Amino acid sequence: MNNNILFFAPVFKDLIWGGDKLAKEYGYPIPSSTTGECWEISAHPHGDCTCITGDYKGKKLSELWLEHPELFTTGQSKSNATGEFPLLLKVIDAKDNLSVQVHPTDEYARDHENGASGKTECWYVLDCEPDSELIAGHNAHSREEINRLIDEGRTCELIRTVKVNPGDCLFIKAGTVHSIKGGVMLLELQQNSDITYRIYDYDRIRDGKKRELHTEKAKATINVEGDDCKAVSTPDTPGTHKIASCKYFDEYRINVAGTETFEAGDTFATFFVTEGEGAADGISIKKGDSFLLTAGQAPLTLTGNMTIIAATPGREA
Ligand code: ZN
Repeated sequence: MNNNILFFAPVFKDLIWGGDKLAKEYGYPIPSSTTGECWEISAHPHGDCTCITGDYKGKKLSELWLEHPELFTTGQSKSNATGEFPLLLKVIDAKDNLSVQVHPTDEYARDHENGASGKTECWYVLDCEPDSELIAGHNAHSREEINRLIDEGRTCELIRTVKVNPGDCLFIKAGTVHSIKGGVMLLELQQNSDITYRIYDYDRIRDGKKRELHTEKAKATINVEGDDCKAVSTPDTPGTHKIASCKYFDEYRINVAGTETFEAGDTFATFFVTEGEGAADGISIKKGDSFLLTAGQAPLTLTGNMTIIAATPGREA
């Protein structure tokens, strides 16, 4: 029995903008035809994934984090072993546009959200229709201009759109105005947080009412500068390529054509198969599968023909 590679039952989220591609593309047993998110690996109270394999079967990820810290770090990795499981990995199917939104920084969340984590996230575009766009960043030059455009209901003039293709990566730092537009499926790697401040929700009505906006918190959170988000295409050549790095996580695209190895060392790592099929240390895996490699293992051997997005927690120096 393999207790080094842990598989989890995903948690699905029914959302006003969701669709049915999580079933069509990945074969997931979604609960509705408006399923927007599949939380693949999460220890957040809003979707705490349950282990489904090995000796830890039946345990929540949050329980494993508390009861078995050795699964997550074996060394001096400072960001581990204390606090909460640091990452959250989800697949998003945006049939319709998500709200225009912003997430707080750690500092703001700590002071205004009962000590919660902020939310920096990174998107990897899994699939999209031709000429698809995401919203990332804004056109304003000052806090006053941001506030004025929001107050006057001119969000569309504030925001910037970015054209994307499958395989593109976009880093969304906390404080960046952003939104996923309809027609895009993406893998989101983020801090373990579920705090969103909505600015504009396309005046949609569900169950007789509009979803709540959080305009004042959003205005206090939006970065005035440093919002120059770009979609970066990621390499499709065989091998392991780092595609994002920040203090919260490192993210890699692994293109397996034959055999590749991935070394996480003294920390755990997460994996999501975006295309193809093969094996991880001999265990069969295919498109749509996700798993967690526990800390302190020998390099993971990946064989087959597949593309994998892997992540490790940030290593704060
Ligand atoms: Zn977001």
